[in-house]
Formats: sequence, C-alpha cells, structure tokens
Amino acid sequence: MAALIYPDYPPNLTSEQSDYIVSNIKDWSILSGLAVRPSSSFVSEKIDPSRSLAVTAPVTLFPSLFPRECFEEARAIQTAYNELYACIANDEEWLGEVVKELAEVDDFISNLWNVHQAVKKEGYVQDLSLGIFRSDYMVHKDPSNQEAKTEIKQVEFNTIASSFGGLSAKVSALHKHLLSISAYPPTIPPLISDSSLPPNPSIASLSRGIATAHKAYGRPKTSSQLPLCTLFIVQDLENNAFDQHALATNLLTDHSVLTFRLPFSTVLAHTSIPSDSPSQPLIYTPPHSPSTPYEVTTLYFRAGYSPAEYTSPNSWNARLHLERSAAIKCPSILTHLAGSKKIQQILATPSSPHLSRFLSSTASAAYIDRIQATFAAIYPLDDTAEGKHAIEIATDPERIRGYVLKPQREGGGNNIYGLKIPPFIKSLGDDSKKYRGHILMELIEPPALRNGVFRNGEVTMGEVIGELGVYGVCLWRHGRDEKGEREILENWEAGHLLRTKGRESEEGGVAAGFGAVDSVCLI
Ligand code: ADP
Ligand code: MG
Ligand code: MG
Repeated sequence: MAALIYPDYPPNLTSEQSDYIVSNIKDWSILSGLAVRPSSSFVSEKIDPSRSLAVTAPVTLFPSLFPRECFEEARAIQTAYNELYACIANDEEWLGEVVKELAEVDDFISNLWNVHQAVKKEGYVQDLSLGIFRSDYMVHKDPSNQEAKTEIKQVEFNTIASSFGGLSAKVSALHKHLLSISAYPPTIPPLISDSSLPPNPSIASLSRGIATAHKAYGRPKTSSQLPLCTLFIVQDLENNAFDQHALATNLLTDHSVLTFRLPFSTVLAHTSIPSDSPSQPLIYTPPHSPSTPYEVTTLYFRAGYSPAEYTSPNSWNARLHLERSAAIKCPSILTHLAGSKKIQQILATPSSPHLSRFLSSTASAAYIDRIQATFAAIYPLDDTAEGKHAIEIATDPERIRGYVLKPQREGGGNNIYGLKIPPFIKSLGDDSKKYRGHILMELIEPPALRNGVFRNGEVTMGEVIGELGVYGVCLWRHGRDEKGEREILENWEAGHLLRTKGRESEEGGVAAGFGAVDSVCLI
C-alpha cells in the first residue's frame, strides 16, 4: 500500500468541532433526503416493524482529495465507454460466444441467456434500449516507479442497477453546505473551495435519461390510449429507496413523467400484456387504484441482478414477461449480460482486437488507447496459455497476495481476496471447467487518505481509500440502420459518485455495509 498522502488533511478535530459537523450532517441529510432505511442489524425489526424509519446515509465528514487530472480523464472517456457497451449489447453473435461458455458453468448467466433466446424466437417488439451505466475506478500509481503518473484503473463497469446517483449529488451538496456554514476548521477553506468541489448533476442527468427513453417510446400502443408511466423494478426490502426516490421525484418535477415502484416478486401479479395486442404493451395496474391502469414506457431495473432474487421459476417467468413487452428496458437482458466481468476481462486483454473493432468507426486510435490505459491486468481461468498461467498463480499462496478473484456477480460481497483464493480454487474440485466462471484481477492499490465516516450514528476517523464512479446514459436502437450504421440516439456522461471505505476493508459497497458515500475535492 502506498504511503499516506496529505497526512494533514483533514485536520484533527476537537470534540466540539466534530460534534458541530455531525449535528449539521444529521439534520441536513434528513432535510434533503440523503437517507437510507436502517439495516436490521442497526434498528431491529421489533423496533421498526413497519419499516418507517430513515437515517442519514453513511457519509464522509469531508470531501476526499482526488487528483483533478484523473477525475477529468474518467469523465472524458465515459461517452466512449457508453458506446462500447451499447455496441457489445448490440452484437448478439459476439456476446453470445462469450455467454455460451459462461452459461455452461453458471446457471444464472444461462437462465438470462435463455430468456433472451425465448424472446428472440418470438420476435422482440422493442428495438430501443436504455443504458444507465457506471464505470468504477480507483486511482493507481506504480509503486516501483517514482516517475510514474497517477492514473485511473477501472474496477468494473456496471450495466444494471448502477446505484447511488440519487445520493451522490446530495453528498456533494452536503459538503458544500458544511463549507458554506463554516462548519469546517478555519484551515480548510484554502484547500476546499467552490472551484475544487465540482458540480455533480447525477440526479438531473440520470432522470433525464429515463425521461428521454419515456419520450422515445412514443404514443400509447393500446387502443384505449392508457396514460403512460415508467416503472422502477425494485427489491422487496430495499434500504436504499431514497436513492431511487430522488430520480423518480425529478422525473415528475422536471419532466412530468409519472413513476411507480414495483417489487420484482410482484411483477406477474400487477402487470400484464394483452393477448390481443401484437405490439405487446406492458400494462401496469396499480393495486391502490385497479380501475386506472397505465401503459409502461420504460422499465428501470433496480432489482433482478442477483441469483438470490430468483426464488422460483416464476421469478424467471417475470423476467421473461418484462423482456417480451414493448417497454424500453434499462437494461435489456443483452445489456445486463454485457456487464459480466468476463467481458471486462476480454476487453482488457492487451492484444485484444475487440476494443478497436467496436469503437474504431467513431473513435480515433489515440482515444481508444485512453480506454485501454484504464484497464488493470485481468486474466481468465481457462485452458488458454494465459488462463493456465493465471490458474497457477491462483493456486499458489506465495504469489496470490496482490489479486482478487471475481465470479460473474453484482452487488458487492462476492469477491475472494488474496490468500483466500487458493483454498477457494481447491474447493471447486478437479473439474477445471468450473474455474471458467471466474476472472482473476490484479488488486489496484490506491494511495491511502484520511477521512471520517459517519455511519449508524457513529464517527470513525482513519485511513480510507476511494472508488470513483462515473455515470453514463445511452439510448440506442438494436441492429443497424439501412446504411448498416449503428444507431446511438443519445449518449452523455451523467455525473459521478465517490465511495470511500476503510483502508483495511476489502469490499467498498455502501449498501452491502462496507463504505460511505463521499464527494471529491479536486487537487
Ligand atoms: P460488484 O459488482 O459486486 O460491485 P466489484 O468488481 O465492484 O463487484 O468489486 C467489489 C469491490 O471490491 C469494489 O468496490 C472494490 O472495493 C473491490 N475491488 C474489486 N476489484 C478490485 C481491484 N482490482 N482492486 C482493488 N479492489 C477491488
Ligand atoms: Mg457491479
Ligand atoms: Mg462494484
């Protein structure tokens, strides 16, 4: 781990200074919806059986220092990343080759692919796809080279349920608020100023993405011309609901688009596709008002990314039902699959021709090199030469320390680190086919910083590391136009997220219980 940089930032706080900052964080956050439902380990179900309590989301006391050049670079390449993943989702043949290999060893991937195949067989009725993406990075500096530049390395690229855009803009606003009410010690202002705290438009920008899809859907397809709405597919017990509410509220106030929330487990009970309508509109019948059904233009998935959510064959029927419908999916099954960690590994292979194949018609070679430069080393665990080499490393306790092993999963808490990798590989047994569902990635080791985290009513000061996420919105038409060109209709960078975790913690997921939402102070 690189040495602590800026050991004097943030300054040590007296207990009065800390109390003042915390009391402002507590009140401002609730006033502004920078909140989560408390986890059941913090507030038991007995105390809050109706789940009506909300508490401040885990946040940092100060914005974390972040190199300006790295921040600007991550933002500058986001539209190219959006295009790259839209192109991958659009190239069913290429994606299918990768997915079929994974499907042999991974039931979840196999089931997703089967849903796509079933819909393809009967014919997709919606050719527009919406991507709300988030590309995650850590700052990296080669420790063996004094002269090395500080650069960003990509942790992963998310194509489904890219969360926290509803809270991250609010943390940026919180830190500006603390600065403007002089809650920080007097030594802070020269370093943190309005120009070092960049604007963060994630809420407005992401909801504009959903509104753009809503508009692109066009007129109602039902003969009775039902009113139109968007539907957020959510998890049954969602602690991070206010993050989602921020987008839904903005959709209503800025775009006059009505949103409903529907738990994934109740999709089949409350939505239908009329059997006499070849255009297959998705009809949502709100349980509170069954006499006023709506036609759904856009499905925004904040659920359905984890195998644990598919508790019965009906869960897969629900996913199939939604995929068949005319609603624009965010994401479609193909886009969901494009976010597999295996895809990132293939793109990151140094000699890989894929990056330029997908991007060369729109991006210069120099620009493609900038994308390439964000990849850390990622290896397959298969019977190619580099796969065999990676299996050797993964089974050798002497060499495995600097690596993380990842399955094709989302949502945090699934990875295996360092010395735990060899016994895990052993537990998979002799069938090396089973290894193929995983990738081996070099650990990125960002320089440690200091910050305080306010979480569950307590402040912890200490060494932390940050992970920057840059959001992207992309709307495209599947297939090619009559000239054989791709049709990317909208593509923009959509704000950012900084998540910060204790230096010793392996995972950084805020919802999974490891980190805090932060903002950047550019240096
Ligand atoms: P998920 O889709 O579950 O979020 P990630 O690939 O983002 O999976 O891994 C979860 C967390 O593990 C990240 O937020 C990060 O803290 C840590 N992590 C993952 N890959 C690396 C890496 N190469 N170097 C350092 N930390 C990593
Ligand atoms: Mg992820
Ligand atoms: Mg992640």
